[in-house]
Amino acid sequence: MAHEADGLLEATAPVETFDVLIVGAGLAGLRAALAVDPALKTAVLSKVYPVRSHSVAAQGGINAAIDPQDRWEDHAFDTVKGSDYLADQDAVEFMCEDAPRVVYEMEHWGTLFSRRPDGRIAQRSFGGQGYPRACYAADKTGRALYQTLFEQSIHHRIRVFEEFFVLSLAVSRGRVAGVVALEIKSGRVVGLSAKAVIFATGGAGMLYARTTNPYINTGEGMAIAFRAGVPLKDMEFVQFHPTTLPGLNVLITEGARGEGAYLLNREGERFMARYAPKLMEVAPRDIVSRAIETEILEGRGFPGGYVLLDMRHLGEDLIRHRLSEIYDFSLTYKGINPVHEPVPVQPGQHYMMGGIATNRRAETRLPGFFAAGECAAVSVHGANRLGANSLLDTLVFGRQAGLGAAEWAKREGAVPFPVEALSAEAARIAAIKARPAGPGSEHYGSIRRELRQTMTDYVGTFRDGPRLAEARRRIEELRARYAGASLMDTGDLFNYDLLAFLETGYMLDLARVIVDGALAREESRGAHARTDFPARDDSRFLKHFLYTPDGADGLVREEEPVVITRYPPKERSY
Ligand SMILES: Cc1cc2nc3c(=O)[nH]c(=O)nc-3n(C[C@H](O)[C@H](O)[C@H](O)COP(=O)(O)OP(=O)(O)OC[C@H]3O[C@@H](n4cnc5c(N)ncnc54)[C@H](O)[C@@H]3O)c2cc1C
Repeated sequence: MAHEADGLLEATAPVETFDVLIVGAGLAGLRAALAVDPALKTAVLSKVYPVRSHSVAAQGGINAAIDPQDRWEDHAFDTVKGSDYLADQDAVEFMCEDAPRVVYEMEHWGTLFSRRPDGRIAQRSFGGQGYPRACYAADKTGRALYQTLFEQSIHHRIRVFEEFFVLSLAVSRGRVAGVVALEIKSGRVVGLSAKAVIFATGGAGMLYARTTNPYINTGEGMAIAFRAGVPLKDMEFVQFHPTTLPGLNVLITEGARGEGAYLLNREGERFMARYAPKLMEVAPRDIVSRAIETEILEGRGFPGGYVLLDMRHLGEDLIRHRLSEIYDFSLTYKGINPVHEPVPVQPGQHYMMGGIATNRRAETRLPGFFAAGECAAVSVHGANRLGANSLLDTLVFGRQAGLGAAEWAKREGAVPFPVEALSAEAARIAAIKARPAGPGSEHYGSIRRELRQTMTDYVGTFRDGPRLAEARRRIEELRARYAGASLMDTGDLFNYDLLAFLETGYMLDLARVIVDGALAREESRGAHARTDFPARDDSRFLKHFLYTPDGADGLVREEEPVVITRYPPKERSY
């Protein structure tokens, strides 16, 4: 991995042209970079130092049907059923068939997976899977996979612009022409021209006050694509993970339940028996999250809104070895030793099923522009992602994006970089910095806080029309306030106040699309549970929603059919 030095870029014109530019250095971004033909000129941009990408925090596992008793077709069926039949089945089949290859490739590159006594890769149960097919490295699977790709990226001398914040896509003659970015250490606005651009910018958990995601997951990659007219797909589907530590909402991996942990209400009852009698605690996440919320709403939770996760019967050895991070988190953040005491848990935002609309080759509607990983909606997760399918998604479709972008760059010449895109961003930043906080002007921080609270209170696990309409009203009010908002730091160097200001604007765009989709989707499907429309309605809503801006500050919603191959929609029970 080569690190960028000073003096390369200028504010007025792009000085360097790439064949392929990749935004995002998580698993999807690095896997894409490694798939690009090394003869091409490629670079990765990341707003943080690469190893701070959220992929590193992934805990529980990565699914692949590698056991001879298992079949990729069963993995595909479980994924489609888990998605509440909204996933595109051709893409799901492609991912599940590719999964064993992905796991062995990572193993051969050096990932240290946990093992069975006979030396084969160990696998554990995960939610909604009919077979224990999550391969894992204790409860640090993301770190193990990431370390492998990071090493590979150094080995292959992948060039990285670290701490560059991408602001917009440059589009010329109806094709992607590169990106405009802010160099964080200097505050310079720079242009990088490219024949092909891949977004692998991750999730947007910061839209919610309660989330397992880190502060950097603000979703601007999706919003930047949207502003450039690239559709966002199925944004109303937001995953809430059932088990997070109350307060900080640090994740307690589903792997804990996969290993056999129980969920208990205040009466000491294993309440999942009433919601998913067969799969119990390892039912899919949408179902377990709703079950916990229902227990709490009906008075069987604990004051403060939580239930208990009981691991004591798993024994100290298993907890301290296969769930070592969970052991540490419980002790560090709650002072609770899970060997001796149950751990309090509550649902929290975890994952965005929706994102930049792509097909299974990671292509978007904008020629030359690709997307992969959590920022994309292929769609393989549909209305509800199964645990341990996202790491797989990043590696399968990250590679597709790299291959596709390389092919595009070889076939197509560069289009001229639109210098006006660069000057427009420079002017936008200058205008923001010209509005320092002071009497009579509102700091954007209160807007960001209220947005996150609004999303948590009104667009959470359970939704209904009047509350979504209230969310919409509040978001419009926040947008109006944001237009006149200010920031504290007007300087150039490492201006994180400016970054958070910008992120807030992109977050408002996404919130608007999520709420519009949630209002329009008058049914309950997967993670989208409308109490006023409790049933799934395939006659009206077995389709994707695609959103673009209308050019006049409004939204355009299109509908697209779901691809069905061999799994006709059925009632979903577990
Ligand atoms: C705590 C936790 C545990 C999880 N555990 C599992 C698990 O066990 N199994 C599983 O399958 N999934 C798991 N997931 C989900 C999974 O980890 C993520 O969906 C996946 O890693 C996302 O990878 P990514 O490459 O798409 O994005 P990320 O890893 O989030 O990387 C995003 C990249 O984009 C860059 N970026 C973003 N915006 C900009 C910008 N404006 N300019 C420049 N760069 C930008 C960032 O710097 C970063 O490098 C977990 C998620 C969390 C939060």
